[in-house]
Amino acid sequence: MPCEFLNYIGGEWVKCRAEKMFANINPANVDEVVGMFQASASIDVEAAFDAAAAAWPTWAALPAPRRGEYLFKAAEILEAKLSSLGEEMTREEGKTLPEATAEVKRTINILRYFGGEGTRQFNHQIPSERENVFCFTIRKPLGVVGLITPWNFPSAIPAWKLAPALVAGNTVVLKPASVAPLSALRIVQALEQAGLPPGVGNFVTGGGGAVGDAILEHPALRALSFTGSTDVGNLLYEKATRRKLRVQLEMGGKNPTIVLADADLDYAAAILVNGAFFSTGQKCTACSRAIIEKRIYAPLVAKLVQKTRALKIGNDLEPGVDMGPAIDDAQLQTNLLYIDIAKKQGATLLYGGNRLTGGAYDGGFFIEPTVFGDVTPAMRIAQEEVFGPVLALMAAEDFDDAIRLANDVKFGLSASIVSNDLSRVHQFVNRIEAGLITVNLPTAGVEYQLPFGGTKGSSFGMREQGQLALDFYTESRTVYLKHTT
Ligand code: NAP
Repeated sequence: MPCEFLNYIGGEWVKCRAEKMFANINPANVDEVVGMFQASASIDVEAAFDAAAAAWPTWAALPAPRRGEYLFKAAEILEAKLSSLGEEMTREEGKTLPEATAEVKRTINILRYFGGEGTRQFNHQIPSERENVFCFTIRKPLGVVGLITPWNFPSAIPAWKLAPALVAGNTVVLKPASVAPLSALRIVQALEQAGLPPGVGNFVTGGGGAVGDAILEHPALRALSFTGSTDVGNLLYEKATRRKLRVQLEMGGKNPTIVLADADLDYAAAILVNGAFFSTGQKCTACSRAIIEKRIYAPLVAKLVQKTRALKIGNDLEPGVDMGPAIDDAQLQTNLLYIDIAKKQGATLLYGGNRLTGGAYDGGFFIEPTVFGDVTPAMRIAQEEVFGPVLALMAAEDFDDAIRLANDVKFGLSASIVSNDLSRVHQFVNRIEAGLITVNLPTAGVEYQLPFGGTKGSSFGMREQGQLALDFYTESRTVYLKHTT
């Protein structure tokens, strides 16, 4: 019998009122049910908000360093279970075991980093024009904050929302993605074991429509932090701004890697393979467009195809596997649909393009890493996020053309360049329309202590991670204080 997991509301693990459940399935082996989760409805969300609202005044009044201590303890609890949590994430999400274990480690680091913010949360002291007047800013928490997270980083993304929200003095209602809710639940369990007071961190699973709507509509909601698809993000933007809510949206990308003619081709090919295919291309920062200077297009493509062919696809728990399955059948079908569209629109299929079948592949949602050449800007594969292991190659006349192609999309999450031409690299940093810019590194692979977020259609609102994350979860108050004696 698969394990049944509950909601966490007001410090208690509870069933949803309707007592309905849904299954969390291993995408590498659909016969394995990782766990059964609560199919909650608005009544459960209301209970979570009631608990969060009741807990808020006491939590907000606790000194921030003491709030941070709960995060330190939760980090310790998770660290003791690092390898089993990594394995569990691999089963629920399908990323390889090393990637999953590294993500849990990142969650631990995030908790520690923001635990430390309990003793910082710096503000400004600004000179006054008047005598004996002392001016400074203070940060105040907002109240109850809603957190809605996607499946592709099922532990790190909940952590990088929960940790700054809590240390800043907010109480939260977290709704994880339905296809991978277990990794987020493990963080909530660790916070409970760390002694987090009842009602401070609430966890409700269930469908985006039912639970998400109820979160957005609850009158106690002061701010919403969402990570997920652009379509859902745009919908939430409409609803949140109608209520004048503070909202933070991290959404899709169509991230380019530019390769200039001076690049080491083996190194560039390795960066492209890493950026495009690791985690099955299911990273918001994954590289989905390679923009290559014409002079090196043919030799680089040959190396890229060779490296792609060498990737081992399979059950992500097995050692040596480079790429696991798509998260579910819907994502697999989306990948296959875009492959079909790319072919019909005239792109050249250079490698892959098929669902993998036979033997263990039949039990999961496996697909070949796929490379398309001769992609032009008008093709959908050049413009739309696939969120799978599908890389579009475009030839650029020169550096200026490469920048033009790179910026010619509605997204602006991450972008990279492979070159040692200092002048061009510098221009790239200035001219590229992306929130995350890397040089001689893949488009993916960010660190928790730096601000994270995109530009254009990829993001809306304040940055996540790093010290800037606290700006979203706090309100600044300005104080003018006069000494009169
Ligand atoms: P999604 O379908 O938009 O779902 C994200 C979350 O929103 C899930 O918890 C989902 O619940 C919930 N949701 C769905 N419909 C909703 C509604 N009407 N109201 C409120 N909540 C709703 O995205 P996903 O498929 O999980 O994740 C993949 C996407 O996330 C990709 O586009 C990727 O680029 C993006 N992403 C962006 C970043 C970034 O930082 N920019 C990071 C990671 C991923 P259910 O699971 O129950 O449907």
